[in-house]
Amino acid sequence: MGWVVVVVIGCLVAYIWSLNTTWGIISLVVGSVLLGSTSTSKKCGICGNLLKKTMYEWKIEGKKKKVCPHCNSSLERRQSREAMRRLK
Ligand SMILES: [Zn+2]
Repeated sequence: MGWVVVVVIGCLVAYIWSLNTTWGIISLVVGSVLLGSTSTSKKCGICGNLLKKTMYEWKIEGKKKKVCPHCNSSLERRQSREAMRRLK
């Protein structure tokens, strides 16, 4: 899915650039910002599935990660298991 977006934005930037260099630079900036936001925030940090409406934030190994509902539930299960172990 990701590479399709790269190709589409790349073609669009090249086309706009051929018409007008200034607008080409602007579209390049906008395109890279768009790419940056889609690649960092729209994917589950664990399984790599695309995130739609629901996403959960977890701090894993000191890093903030956005995860899908499926990985969220498995993380919750793991966390409660570890909490139970600590109690013993
Ligand atoms: Zn996931």
